[in-house]
Amino acid sequence: MSRAKILIVDDRPENLLVLESLLDDPGIELIKASSGNEALKKILDHDFALVLLDVQMPDMDGYEVAELMRGNRLTKNVPIIFVTAKHKEQTSIFKGYDSGAVDYLFKPLEPVILKSKVDVFLEMYHQKEELVAKTHELDRRLADLEELKTLLEKTNEQLTQLSRKDGLTGLLNRRSFDEIVEREWHRALRQQKPLSLLLVDIDCFKAYNDTYGHTMGDDALKAVADCLVTSARRSVDRVARYGGEEFIIILPDTDAYGAEVMAKRVCDEVYGLKIQHDQAATENTLTVSVGASTTLPRKELNLLDAIELADVKLYEAKSGGRNCWRSAELEDLDSLQKQSNAMPNQQNR
Ligand code: GH3
Ligand code: MG
Ligand code: MG
Repeated sequence: MSRAKILIVDDRPENLLVLESLLDDPGIELIKASSGNEALKKILDHDFALVLLDVQMPDMDGYEVAELMRGNRLTKNVPIIFVTAKHKEQTSIFKGYDSGAVDYLFKPLEPVILKSKVDVFLEMYHQKEELVAKTHELDRRLADLEELKTLLEKTNEQLTQLSRKDGLTGLLNRRSFDEIVEREWHRALRQQKPLSLLLVDIDCFKAYNDTYGHTMGDDALKAVADCLVTSARRSVDRVARYGGEEFIIILPDTDAYGAEVMAKRVCDEVYGLKIQHDQAATENTLTVSVGASTTLPRKELNLLDAIELADVKLYEAKSGGRNCWRSAELEDLDSLQKQSNAMPNQQNR
């Protein structure tokens, strides 16, 4: 607990001496002023717990000092006890209260009364000090909490991002794909827009791993993943890693023609990477095969059928020699079966 400062104001040195001896206490720092003016100056320089103010002083009496104190933002809350030789006249007591006094003491001072009144104010002062310190401490903790909250939000955001991504390629993972494709399916259903899906599978990738090792296999997977991201040019297109060396591209608002353009572009651009693959089906270069499905969603149609149709088409592309694409539209529930049996208009590259 800090020492509380008390300002004692009296024009007569002997009165100041009396107050000094009565208030001699290690917990109190006494500061003296012998006029109203001096008191006003000192009051601005210190944080006082209490002012003991003589009423009768030449030049500026205690009431004027109190009024000036009450008019100042910095000093208006400092408690004042008037010390007066006047008898308890109602008028002078009221005058004191008008100018902001909190209490009165009469000369000659009664030590016990003086001490008990001063103690009340000191107690209040220390309580106030404690409150201020606790408020500061709370403010500090609040600021720390805010900082922690921001950090937590950031970490959570990073964790969410990480949980949505495939560690090797940085593409959306299978879980994110499942969520996104479901949303896109319903959006397409609501807006009656076609939704195309492209399943992309690296050709002869087992042989690539066997020939060049898994590290190079991983590098090739990353290169293909990046290539697919650049191939899917519209901002709503999403590329995900669907399985080991299999990817899926969601193309919202894309009709069968658009899906074919994209399928061809994917084949061409991966081929254009010119990743050497001596065991490849085509020209010692790493290639992909693509199966595409396009659906104008209706209530009777099923998203899983649209994915399966892309898979059927991928299988056809593989059977058709690899490094090529096949596509179809999911028109009704029967078409899946029909599409599996038929080999429509798609060409090999
Ligand atoms: P196809 O042309 O019919 O697709 O033949 P494929 O060899 O590509 O297909 P298969 O399914 O027989 O083999 C896929 C290979 O992909 C097997 C596995 O070693 C490789 N693979 C899957 N995931 C990863 C991966 O994360 N890293 C590496 N390096 N290889 C992987
Ligand atoms: Mg493969
Ligand atoms: Mg595969």
